Formats: sequence, C-alpha cells, structure tokens
Amino acid sequence: MPTAEIIEPNKKAAPKKAAAKKAAPEKEKEVKEENPIPAEAVEEKKEEKAAPEAHNGDDAYVSLRHIDKVYDNNVQAVFDFNLDIKRHEFIVFVGPSGCGKSTTLRMIAGLEDITRGELWIDGEYSNDRTPKDRDIAMVFQSYALYPHMTVYNNMAFGLKIRHLPRAEIDRRVREAAKILQISEYLDRKPKALSGGQRQRVALGRAIVRNAKVFLMDEPLSNLDAKLRVQMRSEIIKLHEALNATTIYVTHDQTEAMTMASRIVVMKLGRVQQVGSPIEIYNKPANLFVATFIGSPAMNVLKATYDKGVINLLGGHKITLGKEFVEAHDAFYAQDVEDCKKEIASIQEKIATLKSTDAALEKELAGLRERLAKAEAALQGPHDIVFGIRPEDINEGKGEGEEYNIRVAVAELLGHEYYVHTDFGGIDLVAKIPLTHEIKIGDTIGVSFNDSKAHIFDPVTEKRIY
Ligand code: ADP
Repeated sequence: MPTAEIIEPNKKAAPKKAAAKKAAPEKEKEVKEENPIPAEAVEEKKEEKAAPEAHNGDDAYVSLRHIDKVYDNNVQAVFDFNLDIKRHEFIVFVGPSGCGKSTTLRMIAGLEDITRGELWIDGEYSNDRTPKDRDIAMVFQSYALYPHMTVYNNMAFGLKIRHLPRAEIDRRVREAAKILQISEYLDRKPKALSGGQRQRVALGRAIVRNAKVFLMDEPLSNLDAKLRVQMRSEIIKLHEALNATTIYVTHDQTEAMTMASRIVVMKLGRVQQVGSPIEIYNKPANLFVATFIGSPAMNVLKATYDKGVINLLGGHKITLGKEFVEAHDAFYAQDVEDCKKEIASIQEKIATLKSTDAALEKELAGLRERLAKAEAALQGPHDIVFGIRPEDINEGKGEGEEYNIRVAVAELLGHEYYVHTDFGGIDLVAKIPLTHEIKIGDTIGVSFNDSKAHIFDPVTEKRIY
C-alpha cells in the first residue's frame, strides 16, 4: 500500500484537549460511517476519554494503554501492551517473527482495529480516528513507489492530492531530497534507481509530510547486507536531523541495538522488556531477552547455587559477592509473595465457579510447585541458570578461574575469533581477540569475567542478578 494513502499532510494539530472533546462536524460524520455507534454516543465516549495528565505531554507523546489485539479468527496477537513514547524518541519493537510487532504498529497507524485498550497520540484519544486523521507517516518494507512517476512526483503526490500550494510542495520535496541526498535523481523513474535509492524515496515521501509520528515496518529487510548497514546509519542521521518521533519494527537485534533510543523486546504477543540498548544488554529481564539480544548469543549453562557459590558442571566454582546473595534472597522472597498472591486470586476464582475448570486447576498446580521451589531456594542449594556473554570470556587468566578448553571450531572474523568448545555438553562460544592463530584441536586457557555473569531462575526464567 503506498504511503500516500495513509497519511494526512502537515495538518495543524487542533488544541489538545479541546480536540478530544469536540470533534468537528465532518469528523463526526467520518467516525459515524466507520463505526455504527450513533454520533451522540461517539461524542460521549470522547468526553469520557479526555486525556488525563499522564497520557499527555512530551513524555507520553504516543501512549499505549493495556492494548490487546484479537483477530477475527480468535488469534490473540498482542496482550496488554503498555508504553509511553516520548516526543522525539526512536523506539524499536524487536522480536522473532510472529511476536506481534507489526500488529502493534498497524494499530498505531489505524490500519488494524484495537480490540481493547487505549491509544493516545499527542494528547488525543485516537482509537477511533481514521488513519489519515492520525497525522502519521509510514514506511514499509516494500517501497510501493509509483513506477510511472518520477522521484519528484512520487514524493509530491501525497501533498498534491491534499491540495498544498505548489510552491510549498516544491520546497518540501527539494528539502527532503537534499537531506536524503537524492536531489540529482528527482527526474528519474524508480526503475532507474538502486534498492537503497528507492528506499530513500520512500523515506522522502514520508518526510515531506512533517507528520507527528513516523512508523517504519522492517524498512531495510529488502536490501542486501552492505546496503542495510549503510541505510541504518542514514536513518539514524535522518532522525538526528528531523528529530521526529519514530517507531521502527525489526526482527534484527543489531538494528535494534544500533538505532534505538529505547527498545521494546516482544515475544508471543507480550512485551518482555523496555529499556535503552545498554540497559537491555547489561540487565536483560529474562532468559529470552538475554539470548535474543547480543551476537553471538549469551552462553547459558546449568548450574547450582549454594550459599553465594555457583557450581558449574565439571567442578568449576564461582563465588559472587554479598550483593549477589542479597539479590538472590530478595528475588526468592518476592517470588514466594507473588506466588501466594496469585494462588489466593485463583482460589477465589475457583470458589465462585459451579463446575471445575481444568485450566485454572493446572495453573494452580504450577503455582504451588513454583512456590515450593522458591521456598526451598531460600533454605538451601538449588538449580540456577548461569549466563555469560562470549565477549565476557577472556583468553588466559582473568577475573575468574582459568579453564583449559579444546577448540572445536575457530571462526576468524578479522580482528577476533569466535571460539567454540564443548563445555559439559553445551556449545560454549568465546570472543577472543586475534593475537595469535587459533586452530581446531588447540587447547587454550580461558576465564570468565565473573562480575559480568548473569544469573536466572530456571522456573520463571527471570533475572535474579
Ligand atoms: P510480527 O510483525 O512480529 O512478525 P505479526 O504482528 O505480523 O508479527 O503477527 C502476530 C500474530 O498475529 C501471528 O501469530 C500472526 O500469524 C497473527 N496474525 C497477523 N495478522 C493476522 C490476521 N490478519 N489475521 C489473523 N492472524 C493474524
């Protein structure tokens, strides 16, 4: 679908709260046509939804509140999505295919209905607004340029159909072309452009609108690897120059890490963590985030915990400090409390039922098991999951004990090796700077940066430390 069809041109935003309460008569008609609710009811609904302070202002420029999406075939694609996006932020939704990224983006664009929850854009309740009333510009993976039009006309088209003055259109197109360094191609047709240039035209078409929010759905995934890296930095520069609030969807963790002000990691329709790239890298909230972000992925090893000491397979021991012991005890004390609360809430639900409910009984049994394990973890030795990133393993003696490993695979990337070894049945990967040649079958000594270790609970998979 061409972007031109989706976006309203540089429309002056109506005063915030007044707009939410008082729709202009034409808008009322549009809402009514889209929605079989009588106009008075729509008006009433809008009155109720006047923006509370927290949904307003620069810190909540785009605000998603408890958003669910259930498709017609009863597939729930998004569960209770909550996020306040600051004005000018560059937000990246990242996660594996099918985790609900595009669905969420399309709900923000108005291309999918919101099943439950609220969407606020610049202080206005926007669930019922048509895509073109949301003042949003969208760039897709497919550039969707008009093949018979020149680059200039492709960029000008959306403004022309909205009857902007010719001089204003010309000014905006030339300015966008300059920013994107495509001024010399304005007279060309898309077929005479490379993939990267076409994607720039698609970006240009979005830029000329001066929209409130830019939405980008995997805009680089059609490009080859080299061009993707180049366009990545161009989009970052573009964001620096325009400072437009941007929401960018990708399955590529490197794009997320390199481009985002804040990353939203998703899995199976649920937000796993929201944070800056550094926060997400340093303190992943759970095992999924830990292994999804970072390349090669974090090494994950089974281990046991006993009074502040981590015992790895093969008799290796890691002693973590007092801080870790405190975090461990606080984690399990909290988990005991959470389990008890959840158990009580489910028991209450069951008590109100006339017949038995297998799903609730199963959930209850799971919670009781988790509670027992959490209580035991506060008393004595128990299983934990130990995570260490490949870059936190050094050659030679470092912070921790030195292990001799046999090199199973040595991948040379230029300035460093990815060295694989069998570590108690696990393929352990270490990033070792190139100082000497490393070959398959070599034995080398490595040590972990113990202070960079990540510890997770095997039951909930949440981060302990
Ligand atoms: P992502 O963008 O993360 O790859 P999507 O948002 O496209 O994921 O899809 C999330 C889930 O919703 C998937 O299970 C997908 O199959 C399902 N889904 C997407 N679009 C539709 C649709 N139009 N009807 C039914 N299910 C859909």
